[in-house]
Order: sequence, then C-alpha cells, then structure tokens
Amino acid sequence: MNIFPEVKSINYKSGNPAKFNKLKLNLYEQDELTQSKADELAKIRFWDYPEIISLEADNPANVLAVDCVADLSDQDVEPDYSELYRKQGYRLKIEETKITLSYQTQVGFLYGLTTLKKMIAAYLSGTGVFDEYIDLEIDRAGYKKLQQLNADINTAEYVLPACEIIDYPSVEVRAVAPTFSWYSGYGRLGFDMQLWGYDEWAEYLYQCVDQKINQFNMVMYGYWPFEFDEYPETIYKDIPIEIWNAENERFIKMKYTHPNIEDNFLPKFIDLAHELGVKIVAYVGLNSYNGGYSIVYPEKRMVPPAGSDFLNDFDSICLSDPKNAAYIVRSMEKITELGFDGFALEESEEGFWFCECDKCKEKWHSVSSTPGEAKHKANFWLLDQIYEAVRKINPEVVVGIRAFRQPPLEKDPAFLQECVDSVRDDVVLFWAPGLYVPETEFTKWIDAFGKDRIWARDTESNSITSTMGRLYRIFESNVLRYEDEANVQVIERDIEQHKGSIREKVHGINGYMFEWFGYFLHQWAHGNYGWGSTMPNDDFFENACKAEFGENLGREILNVLRSILTIHESQMKLYTTPFPFQSNIVNKSDIPTIEQAIADHPAILAKIQKMIHALSSNPKLKHYALHFKKIENSYRRSRIIYEMMLASIEYDNAPEEDKAALLDEILFFNERDFDIVKEMFFDINPVSATGVKSCMIPYHEVKRLINNIKYPENKDEAIICSGIEALGWLWLDNSK
Ligand SMILES: [Zn+2]
Repeated sequence: MNIFPEVKSINYKSGNPAKFNKLKLNLYEQDELTQSKADELAKIRFWDYPEIISLEADNPANVLAVDCVADLSDQDVEPDYSELYRKQGYRLKIEETKITLSYQTQVGFLYGLTTLKKMIAAYLSGTGVFDEYIDLEIDRAGYKKLQQLNADINTAEYVLPACEIIDYPSVEVRAVAPTFSWYSGYGRLGFDMQLWGYDEWAEYLYQCVDQKINQFNMVMYGYWPFEFDEYPETIYKDIPIEIWNAENERFIKMKYTHPNIEDNFLPKFIDLAHELGVKIVAYVGLNSYNGGYSIVYPEKRMVPPAGSDFLNDFDSICLSDPKNAAYIVRSMEKITELGFDGFALEESEEGFWFCECDKCKEKWHSVSSTPGEAKHKANFWLLDQIYEAVRKINPEVVVGIRAFRQPPLEKDPAFLQECVDSVRDDVVLFWAPGLYVPETEFTKWIDAFGKDRIWARDTESNSITSTMGRLYRIFESNVLRYEDEANVQVIERDIEQHKGSIREKVHGINGYMFEWFGYFLHQWAHGNYGWGSTMPNDDFFENACKAEFGENLGREILNVLRSILTIHESQMKLYTTPFPFQSNIVNKSDIPTIEQAIADHPAILAKIQKMIHALSSNPKLKHYALHFKKIENSYRRSRIIYEMMLASIEYDNAPEEDKAALLDEILFFNERDFDIVKEMFFDINPVSATGVKSCMIPYHEVKRLINNIKYPENKDEAIICSGIEALGWLWLDNSK
C-alpha cells in the first residue's frame, strides 16, 4: 500500500485481510491514556473520516476492534533510533479479527492512528470512487447522484491487508514554518494563512499531523498579531487598508485587525497543538521587523551611513538606546508568556552596514573591523539578554537562531569556530547551509556545532514561491529556463536537503510553508522526507498523488502541477526594479516556449476547472478545492502574462517609432492581469507606512516604470518594491 509519510517497515502476512466499516478502540490498563481521552484523540485524528470511529458499546459485525497497548517491543528496531522509536514510534498489526496498536507515548499512539487512517484513505482512493465526482452536473439528477456517492462512502467496507508495521521517525523535530503575520505593516498586510482564524488553523494543524509534522516555526514579522498592553502601538490593530469592491469597481478604505487580536484564539490553538504533539515556536527577528515599533518611531531606527542608498533602514532599531533593547526583550518575554515553546530568532543576512550613531560607533564599530562584525556583536549582546529573560519565564523554552547566513557562503572553519564560541552551548540553529554550496559545507557546520544543534536547513522553496505575488510555482519544470535561474529554490532542492539531514542524523528539519493554498505538495515532501523516506522524487510525487486522490485524478493533478509554466511580470526587460526571486529576463529565444504554453493553456485550464468541481463536492477531498481555485486564478493570469511577455520581447527589438504602441499594449495586459488579481486577493495595493513603498503584486510598479518611459519629463521616482523580502536578497541578482 502507498502510505505517506513512508513507514519504516511493512510486512505483509498470509492471513485474511481485515474488513470493517467502523473502528472501536479498546484500551487496557495503562498509565497515560484513558478510554475517553483516546476516543477524543481518535475523533480529532480522523477529522476527515469521523464516521469511522465508533463509540458504541456494542460490537456489531462491521465494527473492528483496535486494541491499544501501551507497551512497545524493541524487536527489529535499529539501535541508533531506539530512543526516537520509544518517544514517537508505534507498531501496528492488522489481522482479520482485530488491529493491535502498540506505543509508549501519546504521540506514538497518534502516529499509529494516523497511519491507520492513511491506509483507509488509500484503500478508498484505490477503489476509483473519487473519479465519480468529476463529471457531476449541478442539476437535480447530479445532486441525487452526489447524495448516493456520499452515502456509499459513509457506509463503505474497508479492506486492509494482513500486515505488521514498525515505524518511527529518523529525526526528532520535523517542523514547518507557516506565517502568522509576515512583514505586516512593513510591506504588506497579509494573504493566505495570515488571514486565518481558529478553524482554519486547526484544519491546517490536522493536515500537518497527517504528515507527522511536530513543530510549527510560526513567523511573526511586523505588527504583532497579539495584544501587547505595554506597547499597544506596535500591534496589528485598526490598520488602514483598501479593499476592492467588485460591485462598484472601486477600492474602499477600511481598517483591519489581525484575526487573533479580534478573537484571541492563540491560547486555544497552542493547547490543541500540544495535545497533538506539536510544538509552537515563534519565528521572529532578532532585531528586525519586531512589531510596529520602528514604523511608529522612525527616530529609533538604526542610522545608515551618510549618503548611502540602503533602502531598508526601517526594520531594525538602534541597540544603544536602552529603551529600544528593553522593548525587544519585553516582546520576547511576552511571546514566552503566550505559551510559545521556543524561538527561531533571525539575524538579517545583510551585513553591509550597521548603525552609525555616535553611541554605536563607540560601543560596536570601535571594536570591530567591519560593519557586519559590529552588527553581529551587538546582536549577540541582545541575544544574551533575550536568553536570560525568556528562560526565567520558561526554563524549557528553546532558543534558536538563524544566523551566519551572509556571504561568503562557504565559511572558513576558523570563522565557524568563532561563531560556535559566540553563542551559548544550548542555543540551536534554525538554519544550516544547503544551497549554492557543496554538501560538504553542511557537514562542516555539523562538525562545528554538533548534530544535536542542527534543527533546520535552507529549505525555503515555498517561501521563494510566496514572494511571487500569488503566482503558482513548485517544480523546476514550472520555471522558465530553470538552468539559468539564479534562485535555485524549488521542491526538488528541498527534498535533496531533507535527505542530507536524514543521512547525517541531525536533530531536525524545517520546511517552509509561507503559503498554503496551491502548495500541499511542499508539505507532503517535508512530511515524507523529514520522517526518513529515501524514495526517488518522481516515485514519491506519483504515489503520494495516487494515494490521496486515486489513480486517475491523482495522475491528472500531478500532470497539471508539473506542466504549468509560470513567468513573473518582472521578467520583462523594461522591469528594471530588482526582483531576485525569478530573475531570468525573457528574450527572443523564449518565444517558442511561451507559444507552446499558450497552445497548452485551454486544455490545462479545463482540467483545473474540472478538478475544482471534483474536489469541492467530494466530502473526503473538499479541503483541496481552495488549492486549485488559487491555481486557477494564477493560471488565468499566466495566460495574460504570456501575451505581456511576447509584447515586451517585441518592444525590446522594435524600431523607435513602434515602441509607444507596444508600451500601451503591455499596459493593457497589465490591467487585465490585475483584473484577475482583484477577483481573489485582499492585500494588493502598495503599503508605505515605513516610508518605502512595497507591494507583492507588480501591477503598480509595471505602470510606474512604463509611465516613466513614456513621460520622461514627468518621472515618478518612488520605487514600489516587489516585496520587502527582496531587499535582503539583492546579492543574488549580482551573483549571475
Ligand atoms: Zn545606534
């Protein structure tokens, strides 16, 4: 059977299969779990198959017993993994007459149930029933057929082969990094999960536990998404925004408050996560983007070198002002009080300048040879204070950093030793190398810091995608001339790094999930390869899609996801504003590729629309519908962007007298592209509260650039950055 994350071992037995319609848990005398607790956890774990868990006392013929035994034999477990096996592992024995689930901890119990549910789901998808939802008409006959299909699923008999599974993870921490708020106020206000309330977060959590993920490194950049009485001016509350009103075709001004400040659901959510064995870590800046403080108090910011053109002086504050450091430390205390289990503190990768106020010159520059060194010393002075403060509140809280990331990317071992010496022994690393360097760079870091301190690598494929203004991008094959692209982050590179982490037996992996809808494959990859699978990529993608969606629908879905060509609006030559995440510029040699994408478009779009229909009406798969609704929006934009690219290539090669008309043509496509954006997204106009304009949707910048070409006598010089995060990555543009 296709079970993901792939189990460590499954032995098929010769006996008759187990056949059942419902499962009933039987607990025996144990210290940790009670019957009612186990039933409650099973209901949560079978969130998408609630009808299968039977709570009835009687035992009719179609109900199969699951004997739950809190006793775990070590037999056939590799000694290197015996501790992880005891903490998180389980055994599952399936026989005709009963199922036996053995475990030592609540987490092992949950993972065993999860595997059982995955087998049930794979059996159901394997019957081909999901294909029946594809052609349902929305009429009375279609509705009656839908009712019948749903009734058939609810009363389905499941058949699982007689087998014995022994399973445990290969690394202890398997994290994803979702965004609770991301540069909110600094460059945007939010999209996707940043706009969720409790119900959406709970459903996302369930899907993470389905992948046996056990930690969220939850990003909070920008206005704090929680109440903070001492610094109310820094929170995400009543922030002005313009919302598109399709009825009147105009933007209307409103004020927006983060859902967690509206409803304060974080405590309940953290409790739920803990119940399911998931730790919640705050992924925040060490001294950057911490709340709205540096937006509200521009005078508190670092002082850039006189005459420099560094745009982002707005994100970090001068550490020589005791009030500033006190604010950051108090923020971290507050986060600890909220119940977070740890910190991933990010030191910005920029080391080109550091605060040049008189005090910082005296305190940090005078004892450093470069601005980067001064910044680093100041940051680690701050880290020490944070460490002391948060450990007083929770002695167990994990303190981790994302640091030492600035060029040169290949580090001198002596420099790495200095890094090791500069942090306390139990501060862990939420970043280790993986891209743009040979794999030996990773082992160099392991040698320097030790395996136990490596909790993550450079697996940011999904976060790179999330910079692209809601355009879809997962595989190498979605990228124009991938082999020439400076930014190599795609799902294939994430998987390679996860495999390296498993090989080296480090403490943890982290997979970025900055954007969810459209990107369940990233999460599946983090789950499967974090657990320890070594399956070749293509087999994984095919088998995982088949297990989840069934043979035909699964194959179609994977084909579509691989076939989409995505070009970002900034890939026109006339788009001169730096955008390092997809930086190939279209040229004449790309015309055949773009024309082929145009030819393929109608058939692929029709497939996506069929998928949306098939998924929305299927009770087992309806949570996938929004993924494909977003992909549909992106792909309709792509059709317009292909035309825009062809017009821009013609513009680049046109005689002077033809250029004005071609610019108008590009503006026309820019408007049509934005029309489709307006149908779906919330935060699509520039945000400028810091003094620097930014917007992830390139529409505004395309308009500004073209108008500046058309009317050179009347230039608008206020760049609209294509995302604040781009500013830290400009070195990548120069690396080509
Ligand atoms: Zn200063």
